[in-house]
Amino acid sequence: MSSFKKLTIQVESNTGEIITREITPLVEQVLTADEQAALTPDSVIQSLQEGNQRFVEGDLTARDHTEQIRKTVGGQFPKAVILSCVDSRVPVEDVFDKGIGDIFVARVAGNFVNEDILGSMEFGCKVSGSKVILVLGHEHCGAVKAAVDNVKLGNITAMLSKIRPAVASVAYNGDRSSKNEEFVHLVCEHNVNKTIQDIRDNSPILKEMEDKGEIKIIGGVYDMDTGKVDFL
Ligand SMILES: [Zn+2]
Repeated sequence: MSSFKKLTIQVESNTGEIITREITPLVEQVLTADEQAALTPDSVIQSLQEGNQRFVEGDLTARDHTEQIRKTVGGQFPKAVILSCVDSRVPVEDVFDKGIGDIFVARVAGNFVNEDILGSMEFGCKVSGSKVILVLGHEHCGAVKAAVDNVKLGNITAMLSKIRPAVASVAYNGDRSSKNEEFVHLVCEHNVNKTIQDIRDNSPILKEMEDKGEIKIIGGVYDMDTGKVDFL
């Protein structure tokens, strides 16, 4: 066991009473090379699902980040690569109850892939041994809404052109504007699935790893209201 100090936290009980608890922050979850090698894609997916469940329940693991920084200085062996939108309301590590050294996180508005993101994913999986790629969309995504409305502004225009194909390929008879939440939701899901297909189509390295069962490439959508990730 490590010898660092305990933390004192105050939590509200079911009856509204403020109670003080002493907890020992977790540091042992920093992955080693051997632990990473022993993981399977399915066990990593399960770990992400269980972490999200703890996030939803407000039961995040307390971590001693100072200690974790020291433990990871010699190298990193993260278990997954997560591609998220830049949205400030989606705190990726917290959403999956993960800490330092646990996951690679790539972020771009609208969670699409380009050459640089694909290179980062190949680094995460082929070079650094991650077992899962998760493309994480989210509800009420401003980038998706802007793509739906075909917004044109500075560099945003070119960025949205990466999401526009997902908008165009959603078959939907009805209001195809960002005012229609149902349509925006469909585009959001479709954009995640399209990104997954783009990864397979444009990264022979990741496609081969997936075909061999070395990694899994999955999608999810983050629900703003509950904090829950629906795995697609
Ligand atoms: Zn977004």
